[in-house]
Amino acid sequence: MRILVTNDDGIFAPGLLTLATVAAEFGEVVVVAPDRERSCCGHAMTMREPLRVTEVDYPVGRAFAVNGLPVDCVNVGLTVPYPDGCDLVLSGVNNGPNLGYDTTYSGTVAGAMEGAINGIRSIAFSMAGLRHGEPIRYEISGNWLREHWSWLTTLPITNETFINVNVPNEATGPVGFRLVPMGQRVYEERVEVREDPWGRPYYWQGGVYVLDRKQPGTDFEAIGDGFVSITPMTLDWTDHRVLAKLAERVNSLT
Ligand code: MN
Repeated sequence: MRILVTNDDGIFAPGLLTLATVAAEFGEVVVVAPDRERSCCGHAMTMREPLRVTEVDYPVGRAFAVNGLPVDCVNVGLTVPYPDGCDLVLSGVNNGPNLGYDTTYSGTVAGAMEGAINGIRSIAFSMAGLRHGEPIRYEISGNWLREHWSWLTTLPITNETFINVNVPNEATGPVGFRLVPMGQRVYEERVEVREDPWGRPYYWQGGVYVLDRKQPGTDFEAIGDGFVSITPMTLDWTDHRVLAKLAERVNSLT
């Protein structure tokens, strides 16, 4: 099995090494990752600048650093080390959660999305349930993936599906999992207004107030209960339920 491993935290991120190390137990691994942290870039790609690719020493497999984003890395991976394609794209393990609507900002999830666009089975991994100041325990992800590798990498999915996995940062024993839909993450006071030394306002958005609404049966609840959340995502953004209703409405008008 030929496996491409990428992330958005950069090629020296510990979570990437965790993922590559476990993957190497099951197949041939090539790491292609951004040369620095590029978190929160979503599904962006580099089009106005050249991509530079540098092979680097890495503890596992071959590895390439790219001056680009996760999407760029997947496409470089399918051009340089794997011109004939590969069997699996893994993205992560991200240094924070990718739950609910946050998945739309995620470079980690975008790496898996780009794998799916290229027709390759793809899975994103993130560490969730982090508490401020506590170390991120990537080994929980690694151990969980090792244990569940065989079915997780052979799930019956369509070629538009990719898988989003979040792993809780707290575990004392074996970690259970739930197959769940994504919930809705709502931010309050998303943009913080500050002032620079010259009295000019500037704005900082990001990790501010999160409304954790009770959302039974979602990825949030799974993580909150200490379970791994597994969410199948689709490239098809069409809202098929609304599409059918719209068609009904339009037909009734004409
Ligand atoms: Mn990240």
